[in-house]
Amino acid sequence: MSTLPACPECSSEFTYEDGGLYICPECAHEWSAQAAADSGADGAKVYRDAVGNVLQDGDTVTVIKDLKLKGSGGVVKVGTKVKNIRLVDSDHDIDCKIDGFGAMSLKSEFVKKV
Ligand SMILES: [Zn+2]
Repeated sequence: MSTLPACPECSSEFTYEDGGLYICPECAHEWSAQAAADSGADGAKVYRDAVGNVLQDGDTVTVIKDLKLKGSGGVVKVGTKVKNIRLVDSDHDIDCKIDGFGAMSLKSEFVKKV
């Protein structure tokens, strides 16, 4: 028998699989086998913008608030378009280049996917 994940609702171990869904016979909870795999053992981080859209490498986003730059005193204005972002696993989770500013890091919570 294959090892199916325990029910996320009631922790029942009698989960069975049916057409790409996992189903719990104890509480009748159903969830996607695919979603379980996506958030599974590889620990891949999901990056979301300010409104919850999933971000991916190469996306274009706009800045949703004025961002003051440390040191230079410059400000990235709200509405600034940022092309070809790169997602990184750090506090500032977006690496990008902005015209007039060059390479910099942004937080995904301050951008919105275009
Ligand atoms: Zn259950």
